[in-house]
Amino acid sequence: MSYIIHRSLRQTPPVAVSAHGILVRDSQGNTYIDASGGAAVSSLGHGHPDVIEAMHRQIDRCAYAHTAFFTTEVAEQLAAKLVDGAPDGIGAVYLVSGGSEAIETALKLARQYFVERGEPQRAVFIARRQSYHGNTLGALAVGGNEWRRKPFAPLLMDVPRVSACYEYRGRGEHQSVEQYTAALLDELESAIVRAGPQNVIAFVAEPVVGATGGAIPPTPGYFKGVREICDRHGILFIADEVMCGMGRTGTMYAIEQEGVAPDIITVAKGLGAGYQPIGAVLATGEIVERIRRGSGNFLHGHTYIGHPVAAAAALAVQQVIERDALLEQVQKQGAALSRMLYNAFDNHPHVGDVRGRGLFMALEMVQDRATKAPFAPQRKLHAAIKEQAMKRGLMVYPMGGTIDGQHGDHVLLAPPFIASASD
Ligand code: PLP
Repeated sequence: MSYIIHRSLRQTPPVAVSAHGILVRDSQGNTYIDASGGAAVSSLGHGHPDVIEAMHRQIDRCAYAHTAFFTTEVAEQLAAKLVDGAPDGIGAVYLVSGGSEAIETALKLARQYFVERGEPQRAVFIARRQSYHGNTLGALAVGGNEWRRKPFAPLLMDVPRVSACYEYRGRGEHQSVEQYTAALLDELESAIVRAGPQNVIAFVAEPVVGATGGAIPPTPGYFKGVREICDRHGILFIADEVMCGMGRTGTMYAIEQEGVAPDIITVAKGLGAGYQPIGAVLATGEIVERIRRGSGNFLHGHTYIGHPVAAAAALAVQQVIERDALLEQVQKQGAALSRMLYNAFDNHPHVGDVRGRGLFMALEMVQDRATKAPFAPQRKLHAAIKEQAMKRGLMVYPMGGTIDGQHGDHVLLAPPFIASASD
């Protein structure tokens, strides 16, 4: 009997009692290899002594100070560190408690920026069909995950949606990668023109798609094209790196690999690496300066923003990544993981695609490799794979869903950066 409203109200999950390195143990004595970092969260594995020590130190010094009264050294240091390592133009950071909060904050920051510029008619966000941006109402509205949205649809703002960059299913048989990319960019530009560029606030996208398809990287030049279109029409580009950011793909931000600088970036998961709930919104100096010179206040805020213990954990995570050269490690182990997955599954009759970047890899399951026909949604294949993996002592992150009437089953692998090849 549990009094918690668990994800499933029919089943109480195993009780985790300890976690160290890549292993999690439950109360029945079972051990699981954490091959997904939870949901791409635990980038340093479990029980990392440096992060735990940094949290202890901060709890002893100052566990909490409300941001209406104070800032803290540790939150300032974290913000400076994030700005320092961010893509060009990023000049300030807003610290929140997770990914959905980061997206809500990003949407409001972008809206307020235009209000302060004297353009209050701008109220449209454009997003992609294959996307997940979180479960709060604003985040759910921009996200494209139909089954998550359906019961709440009447509560959500209207968001014009375009196709995501999903080469495995989206590119036509006789279409080159360049033609496919150009068609996607045309679709985006048409959506902006249809909404009226003067009404659009921003285009929101995950540089590498996470939870609605599994580690789907963009085609070459796609995000360069997105940036050009956004600039041409004077709208912002928000990169949601809640899942793919913080080193997961081998660079601190996945968008760096596209040679593009967004106006706003959201991060979470790997920021606190599971040690504390923390997310962040990174914004250009131009956005923040406009509000500073205008009303002077960002009309937003939560009780736990800038939490000092969460900031201490995130700062320690950043320092460990730098000190232990973990981005290089992600690149090296990512290449090894990718090789192993191709070797193991390239000829598997039910694995249609093996893809990803760095230590962010996924398998897409199909009933028929040749036709790419998926399994029937009722089979809930992804859920069955998770269950079977757990029985065998392995955590993989399953995802299944219907986008544009097309069902897909995927399994995401996002092992901790500290995992060795033999792990
Ligand atoms: N954005 C992306 C890309 C995500 O993958 C997620 C969570 O999976 C979120 C936002 C929401 O983050 P959270 O679950 O921390 O609210």
